[in-house]
Amino acid sequence: MTEARKTRVRFAPSPTGPLHIGGVRTALYNYLYAKQHGGTFVLRIEDTDSNRFVPGAEQYIIEALRWCGITPDEGVENGKVVEEASEKHPYGPYRQSQRRSIYRKYAEQLIEAGYAYYAFDTAEELAAKRAEAESQGQTFIYNQVSRKSLRNSLTLSGEEVAKLLGETTSWTIRFKMPENVVVKMDDLIRGHIEVNTDTLDDKVLWKRADELPTYHLANIVDDHLMKITEVIRGEEWLPSLPLHYMLYKAFGWEDTMPRFAHLSLLLKPSGQGKLSKRDGDKLGFPVFPLRWVSPEGEVTRGYREDGYFPEAFINMLAFLGWNPGDEREILSLPELVEAFSLERVIKSGARFNPEKAKWYNKEYLRMKSDEELAGLYLPILREHGIEVTLEYTAKAISVIKDRATFVEDFWTAAPYLFTAPSEYAEKDVAKFWKKENHEHLPEVKAHIAGYCGPWTVAGIASSIEGFIKDNEWPLGKVMNCLRLALTGAASGLGIAEIIYTIGLDEAVRRIDSAFKTLGE
Ligand code: GLU
Repeated sequence: MTEARKTRVRFAPSPTGPLHIGGVRTALYNYLYAKQHGGTFVLRIEDTDSNRFVPGAEQYIIEALRWCGITPDEGVENGKVVEEASEKHPYGPYRQSQRRSIYRKYAEQLIEAGYAYYAFDTAEELAAKRAEAESQGQTFIYNQVSRKSLRNSLTLSGEEVAKLLGETTSWTIRFKMPENVVVKMDDLIRGHIEVNTDTLDDKVLWKRADELPTYHLANIVDDHLMKITEVIRGEEWLPSLPLHYMLYKAFGWEDTMPRFAHLSLLLKPSGQGKLSKRDGDKLGFPVFPLRWVSPEGEVTRGYREDGYFPEAFINMLAFLGWNPGDEREILSLPELVEAFSLERVIKSGARFNPEKAKWYNKEYLRMKSDEELAGLYLPILREHGIEVTLEYTAKAISVIKDRATFVEDFWTAAPYLFTAPSEYAEKDVAKFWKKENHEHLPEVKAHIAGYCGPWTVAGIASSIEGFIKDNEWPLGKVMNCLRLALTGAASGLGIAEIIYTIGLDEAVRRIDSAFKTLGE
């Protein structure tokens, strides 16, 4: 029996652009798993494909994880990828391009052991093969059959191989997929899987041209060297799993091979097809955690800038493809850590629901204190040129909180709680500002000015309504005039909610200005 190993999982993104929400979910599940097992969550940047490298993407990934509250334990320090090994980060560097010197010997080890071979076919030769196959309605695959008639160390003489290795730089090292072997694999989410190697190709492992490994080799070597115990990643890597199993076997690392869990894809809200990076723009919701400005200057919206709370975002993401098995839907990060299990991750695709994301935000907004929300709202108010106290803002929030999904909604729902109307909606004026109704306002105003009941919304409401009713004036119509005077329009918050917030003096001032502007 192998001795129990300390849990170590990793998130291994390639910095090819902003992190899609599917990627954030993968990172989150890794984080939850690590924390639940008292383990370590590692970040490793897989940047060996220099053609796909996008400047800024690595920083974006780190910032996105930080915003979500799931910063890795290892591989990142002070917001930067760790470039050297240290006590806290013993397996550095954590950027594969800086580990380049590590991989070649592993590729050569496989050649010596007969699990890999040198391939000398140039890009042009392979392109010609592909074109030829295509013209016959077939697809060219570099595999157990075709490799027998291609230029590689399996077909060429030792002398020729030595010569080409020394004189050319376009050769690669390929995995020699064995013939007719059934690879038996286990996935923590999908269960047992078997694949025959005859269906697999001979993947490139290392390239002489840039002296870099491909994803497959670097990924296996690093997971081994970094002592990773579970690999939790997206379903798009499932087809690579047989090769990865074969690589562990070829290296003789089967005893410490990580366990694998492949997460299902996120689907479009319609349930039809994978949620793509472009869907956000097309369907009107963000698919990225943070706003992203591409090197070309193209701007893509993010959950943070759209006003989502990271806790709500994370909670929503956790439930995309997993649930705790009970009725609970609102779980904080520590609660998620406790409740999470890979066994409860669903095998089928998880349909993304932008409305549910909003629902989560609304719930989290309601759970926050008025003071905390006021702190978040003050900068927005300042942008509108309004300087008020935190205390006043908190009071206003207490009356509008239930109507908001985002902090920004406080302003759109009721700007008049912070600024007197400067104009009055024409249509509403025409409809409601009628002499027979507004002629009662001066008396209502006097009543309001003299109000000395309890300072509660209910107290103010019953006093004003009672006064109008006692006088047998048309309640609705008089209230509409009052609302027009207080807010500039005939719809919006309840009169008492407004007065409760702005106070008696301000209410009186607004009634006076309405008369000045709209006339008697
Ligand atoms: N670099 C791969 C990616 O960006 C990582 C896959 C894995 O976790 O093995 O998805």
